[in-house]
Amino acid sequence: MIIIRGKVLNEGIAIGRISYFEHTFQEIKPNKITDPSIEFSKFEIAKTKAIEELTELYEKARIDVGEDHAMIFDIHRMLMEDEDFISAIEDKIKTQYLNAGYAVFKTGEDFADSFAAMEDEYMQERAIDIKDIVKRILSILDGKKNAGSIEDMSIILSQELTPSETIQLDRKKILGFATKYGSASSHTAILARAKNIPAVSGIDISKEWDGKTAILDGYEGALYIEPSDSILKEKQKRQKQERDKRERLFALKGKENISKCGKKIEIFANINDLSEVDEAVENDAGGIGLLRSEFLYLAKEALPTEEELFNAYKTVAEKMGEKKVIIRTLDIGADKLTSYFDLEKEENPALGYRGIRICLTRTELFKTQLRAIYRAGYYGNISVMFPMIISCQEVRRIKEIINEVMKQLSEQNLPYRKLELGIMIETPASVIISDELAKEVNFFSIGTNDLTQYTLAIDRQNPRLEEFYHPHHPAVLRSIETVVKNGHKNGCQVGICGELAADTSLTGTFIKMGVDELSVSPALVLGIREKVRSIDLR
Ligand code: PEP
Ligand code: MG
Repeated sequence: MIIIRGKVLNEGIAIGRISYFEHTFQEIKPNKITDPSIEFSKFEIAKTKAIEELTELYEKARIDVGEDHAMIFDIHRMLMEDEDFISAIEDKIKTQYLNAGYAVFKTGEDFADSFAAMEDEYMQERAIDIKDIVKRILSILDGKKNAGSIEDMSIILSQELTPSETIQLDRKKILGFATKYGSASSHTAILARAKNIPAVSGIDISKEWDGKTAILDGYEGALYIEPSDSILKEKQKRQKQERDKRERLFALKGKENISKCGKKIEIFANINDLSEVDEAVENDAGGIGLLRSEFLYLAKEALPTEEELFNAYKTVAEKMGEKKVIIRTLDIGADKLTSYFDLEKEENPALGYRGIRICLTRTELFKTQLRAIYRAGYYGNISVMFPMIISCQEVRRIKEIINEVMKQLSEQNLPYRKLELGIMIETPASVIISDELAKEVNFFSIGTNDLTQYTLAIDRQNPRLEEFYHPHHPAVLRSIETVVKNGHKNGCQVGICGELAADTSLTGTFIKMGVDELSVSPALVLGIREKVRSIDLR
């Protein structure tokens, strides 16, 4: 048995086989081969496997997000079966004696270039699809795995998982993950908590462990390779305790979030994709306090259309019924990156071109999202919220854009509803002027992850600084108190949606401060309810 200790990203125990996940290639070099028929059959086997994967992904997406969104995987399958595409690869292997990997890579590049050069916007978008299918075939040829094609019920081991890879992990297929890199306040860790996946980082990963039996202990932050019988029994006992606790918490469904001294507080859920709405409903969340809308963009290879966004928001609103759904507009940038946004590399990305700064300078992008949100608002109880705000001018500019969007929707006779407006309080500037900002909007939601980062000048992504990253720092707690006071004085509701909202050692403090709502990962809602019900401030 080997034991490797790291640090906790999310609690929970996973017992199963390891699936080693490597990031896919950058560029493939040409090599001369001697036996083209063997090389071509390698390609054919990889292509068959890729088609199987796409068929599975199509089925999964159809159930999770509906037929419209699932179609992309069907398009990928068709492209992969395209005769011109296959014969270009065959030609490179059989007449030019080139290796299968390079033949696929080069054909992919050529096809993507010619699609990108077409007039038609729809055809231009297919360039990204070609790159995606090439990536899939190459990772199979190379014996590597795609984030979406990891073996069923396995523990993933990877040097690093990006937020866009993590969002693609299917909770029903993944037991847990361990990485070498990643801090507890990174979005990868946040996604693990949202999806309730046991996760540990700081583990020196070895490829040799692929396929071996392991236990991932997300309570102590450790990975056991080929565990002994006694460890296995001990961890199975812990798993049973976990199940018993869930049953105890499930008994609190339908009960009020009220303290022994009669103080009420709302407990909402933070979600990142459509599959997490079901978790929020199952855990009896009072609403969605933060829909991190950027993950609907990150899970894709091209900008989602207004219709795609509208359908996604409408689905969430309808599933939540009368309950409030707060959609935060695109907060892309810093660690949340994807290639099609073409964002330049920056020296200080957390202080850079991100969040509302992108939306206010790329207004077409912003308007498309706002149109989708306002239209979906017609079908449920949606509010809209804006990230990274530092001034009242920004809020006023946002309102002007919203007015333009609503005017356009009216002219087009598209149904929409006027929505409540909120902002994230996650910069020290917004704390300091929260009295003025409160006059501009209906609600505040305090983002303690970024507020801690910016107040303490500590990069939340850097695992080396974790011992200094203190969300309990008095400067952070006093900021929260100031914001609640300023918000209430000016008729503004105040919630917390950063990870600190789930810290039960502070639940009593937040109630005392008068916080109106806490928004946490769906799986933590009932635990906070239990805590609230045990508090007596008399
Ligand atoms: C926060 O900063 O606390 C927050 C909720 O937003 P995100 O974690 O997505 O940056
Ligand atoms: Mg933030």
